Amino acid sequence: MLDADFFRRWMTATAAAVDREAERLTALDSPIGDADHGSNLQRGFTAVVATLEKESPETPGAVLVLAGRQLISTVGGASGPLYGTLLRRTGKALGEAEEVTEEQLTSALRTGVDAVMALGGAAPGDKTMIDALTPAVDALGDSFAAARAAAEQGAEATTPLQARKGRASYLGERSIGHQDPGATSSALLIAALTEAAG
Ligand code: ADP
Ligand code: MG
Ligand code: MG
Repeated sequence: MLDADFFRRWMTATAAAVDREAERLTALDSPIGDADHGSNLQRGFTAVVATLEKESPETPGAVLVLAGRQLISTVGGASGPLYGTLLRRTGKALGEAEEVTEEQLTSALRTGVDAVMALGGAAPGDKTMIDALTPAVDALGDSFAAARAAAEQGAEATTPLQARKGRASYLGERSIGHQDPGATSSALLIAALTEAAG
């Protein structure tokens, strides 16, 4: 079973990974964006960790709802509302249980990813975070490690795609040949599940 502490560790591990990889995320956002993805997420997840420490939410759902709200209010770019919606809607889908199963997390995350698609209008293959998140949720039923591998593969597979959503889409065919920064950070978020599981 996964308790509130597991979800706190997930957010802390994500924040640490974003710190570690911030320069790389910003570098990926340079040729096909505005070179701020690393700093956007660093600011957001630093605020998430601080809020979680201050408010100590007591259920898995409450941890993710609070984290999502914090991202929405701290991150100005496209990724703030999108990641914020992902976490908030996943948290809401978990309800008020004190502990949840991995199956419940999988189903809640699917709800969260669907909400991101509804908000941003992106489908798989549009070269966005959806290209890492969708395969990750599909593999999550097997294990956290399988989800991590699927997300990393999904992120790498964005390189040959032409962007159809977000800033990168303004470049048209010139967006081809670069890995999507948001898909790359989504792979970090999913990889952090394995760290939270210890
Ligand atoms: P901004 O583009 O506002 O500077 P970021 O650089 O923080 O925001 O985030 C860019 C990432 O957000 C992209 O790499 C992409 O993965 C994701 N993204 C942008 N628009 C969408 C969308 N409509 N749906 C899903 N993901 C999107
Ligand atoms: Mg950007
Ligand atoms: Mg920006």
